Amino acid sequence: MRDRYQQLVTTAPGRFLARRVGLPEPPHLRRHTPGDPLIPGPVILGGAPAGRLVKVVGPMLAAAGVAVRELGPRAEERPGGARPHALVFDATGITRSEQLVALHDFFAPQVRAVAPSGRIVVLGTPPEHCADTREATAQRALEGFTRSTGKEVRRGVTSQLVYVTPGAEEGVESTVRFLLSGRSAYVSGQVIRVGSAEVPPPDDWERPLAGKVAVVTGAARGIGEAIVGVLARDGAHVVCVDVPSAASELAEVAAAHGGEAYPLDVTAADAPAALAGHLRSGVDVFVHNAGVTRDRTLAKMDAARWEIVLNVNLTSEERINDVLLGENVLRPGGRIVATSSMAGIAGNPGQTNYATSKAGVIGMVRSLAPTLASRGSTINAVAPGFVETRMTAAIPLVIREAGRRMNSMTQGGRPIDVAETVAWFASPGSAGINGEVVRVCGQSLLGA
Ligand code: NAD
Repeated sequence: MRDRYQQLVTTAPGRFLARRVGLPEPPHLRRHTPGDPLIPGPVILGGAPAGRLVKVVGPMLAAAGVAVRELGPRAEERPGGARPHALVFDATGITRSEQLVALHDFFAPQVRAVAPSGRIVVLGTPPEHCADTREATAQRALEGFTRSTGKEVRRGVTSQLVYVTPGAEEGVESTVRFLLSGRSAYVSGQVIRVGSAEVPPPDDWERPLAGKVAVVTGAARGIGEAIVGVLARDGAHVVCVDVPSAASELAEVAAAHGGEAYPLDVTAADAPAALAGHLRSGVDVFVHNAGVTRDRTLAKMDAARWEIVLNVNLTSEERINDVLLGENVLRPGGRIVATSSMAGIAGNPGQTNYATSKAGVIGMVRSLAPTLASRGSTINAVAPGFVETRMTAAIPLVIREAGRRMNSMTQGGRPIDVAETVAWFASPGSAGINGEVVRVCGQSLLGA
């Protein structure tokens, strides 16, 4: 599954050449396979004094079988000799900018020792929940730290900031597990907010969706096919939706994962009603993944190109959400996950239609989040960067190669990376994550 350039630089002459001319050497990324431990080595956990999360996260990780080493903020030595696989720092005790030096004290002596595909996670308080402006300033500063470490550390190491609302401490487990595991291999430089919610602990973290019904649109191939596989792996019965012309591929995907195929064009006038009829007994997880591109610079774009992209990628989702919510098709505690794109965040030449639709998805997720919260449900979006699928295979070679390399992982993501992120949103343990947009882009250099 390595691209041609990755294959080349794993040979001795290829590596020699890449080093001589300063080309990137894409690291092998640790990805999750069922049965893997949460993380293959020790986690060093530290925190600024008076932090409220160290005492929750330490026992949580220990109970999950992780070797946790707690160090004071001035730790200079690596305990036990083993390379740390993650550095987790509780920064919630930082209330003044002068105290940000605790980040330096904790990370600087240890950061180079972190194993390949290791993890950096900083836990903070959302600035909007801070007691005063100085605390809010110091907490906002954490973003610059985690985004920079992600760009600096390389070797497949990811770095994230998780803001945890006061009172939501117990709800952080699904997120910490996701970020430490190989499930988040291609997620880096993200800022994730965990809010207060009733979080029922899953009976089995390996099958958190057991007994649930999920729907995935655009399921016949690419990212959608991977989402079907991961949701089924996690225990869900998956209804696979795609256009009728893809019915045979769709049937194969459904059969491979014990689900059912439901051929349907999501833009059809009667699609929402047809879905509501088909899902009469309700659905727990609905994944809006179907998407199309019709690229042209704006001056050369005909109305048909504009309309189909907006209709498939945005309007059809709004119309389906209307029945999911208006007719109570989405069960209490349900999850909606939509698919945005880095183009929807950063914009892209030749993609005014696509970027408009994908920015609209972000608007939809943010504006519907309070409605979903009032039902004990959530709505979130994944925003993929460059992911190796048929959609990106159609991009001209030079642009494609730039897209692949211009990120902290110096490689494209795989459909499974997006699928794992969707599964984390879908998990019952993620009830406190609502209205979020998480990029699966290897910390792309493009965009925010
Ligand atoms: P893909 O083209 O391989 O698959 C998209 C699927 O959606 C296809 O099976 C297609 O038949 C289906 N589809 C299209 N129109 C439909 C309709 N009207 N009704 C039902 N199904 C329909 O694309 P992909 O790369 O797997 O992308 C999946 C999603 O991820 C899309 O929303 C895309 O915009 C988004 N995305 C992908 C990338 C990437 O790098 N591949 C990056 C950002 C966002």
